[in-house]
Amino acid sequence: MSRVVSIFDPWKDEMCTCPPKYSCSPYTGCSHSCLYCYISSYIPNAFIARPKKDFIKRLIRDIRRIDPKIPISMANSSDPYTPPEDKLRLTRRALEILIPKGLKLIILTKSTLVLRDIDLIKCGNVAVSITITTLDSNVAKIIEPMAPDPWERLKVVEKLSEKEIPVIVRVDPIIPYVNDDIGMLENVISEAIKKGAKHIVVSTYKARRDSLNRLAKAFPDIGKAIKETYLTRGIKMKRTVYYLSKTWRRKILKQLMDFTLKEGATFAVCREGFREYIRAQSCDGTHLIPNRVEPLKIA
Ligand code: SF4
Repeated sequence: MSRVVSIFDPWKDEMCTCPPKYSCSPYTGCSHSCLYCYISSYIPNAFIARPKKDFIKRLIRDIRRIDPKIPISMANSSDPYTPPEDKLRLTRRALEILIPKGLKLIILTKSTLVLRDIDLIKCGNVAVSITITTLDSNVAKIIEPMAPDPWERLKVVEKLSEKEIPVIVRVDPIIPYVNDDIGMLENVISEAIKKGAKHIVVSTYKARRDSLNRLAKAFPDIGKAIKETYLTRGIKMKRTVYYLSKTWRRKILKQLMDFTLKEGATFAVCREGFREYIRAQSCDGTHLIPNRVEPLKIA
């Protein structure tokens, strides 16, 4: 059976600046159903999360083969706290296995459910990355229909930080006309830092046809403008991904970088191709993973 812990390699994307890391997703697909999500371009029934077959058995097998110095990212193509996790507890079981072995973990989520596992997380070599794209609950409900309200996610930032768990906040993606108001984005960053976030990652929406159509349908008044911004004035990259123009991206990313550094956190951009906007030891925040547990020899 295929691996459930494998090297993170986002399609050998030269725009990716991530340090080496493994990727591990307990689920296939993700029920948070974010309109902008890219997984629907390659996972059938992408927005119905289902547990991977024999996930725990395969996890135990795979960690015998990994380098314990390299962090494991949970998860990249599905939220490890996607709604079914509440009952299935696969992510929790994985943490119970990985944390005592001293493996380095970064958890990426939009869910308040991560707080259920704070007892485990606070004892391990774990950092948590919370995505908050807007503090406008109405917009969030449209673009991330099944994910918790962003103000609830801010509370998660606060609660994790209170337990000295390093928290990264991802303002990702920024979508033109939807959540690109600079004042509102600065507010997300400022609130996140006030609640304890140490590192901010910002990224613009990278459009694929299916997610672009979902956005255009959800926002009929501005759908045409969003499409034109990408398909006419944007940049077509390989794998039929469209980026915003460099000028647009540079302007907003630079402004947010300056703001974040002034507010006292480190900053990085994600897959933008602007290394000068990475002002931290790692873009993804893996440098914040603490060393609380000595790695055990896994055999
Ligand atoms: S939480 Fe992440 S993986 Fe899940 S639907 Fe949203 S963007 Fe996709």
